[in-house]
Amino acid sequence: MPTTVTTQSGPVNLPLPLTPPEPVRGCDVCAALVGQRQEARDRGDLSAATDADVEIRSHPHKTRGRR
Ligand SMILES: [Zn+2]
Repeated sequence: MPTTVTTQSGPVNLPLPLTPPEPVRGCDVCAALVGQRQEARDRGDLSAATDADVEIRSHPHKTRGRR
């Protein structure tokens, strides 16, 4: 007798981070990416908006000793 297994209740793998990254103040790259992200959201392109989030999160910063 086959057992009924439903795999519908597994954990959902969300591609989007729950908290959008904070742009670093004074960083031109962050400022540009925030602008791109906003434009992408305005035109409903959430994929591009997420790409901008990833770039904001991953590009290097020189703010080691922050006040
Ligand atoms: Zn930055």
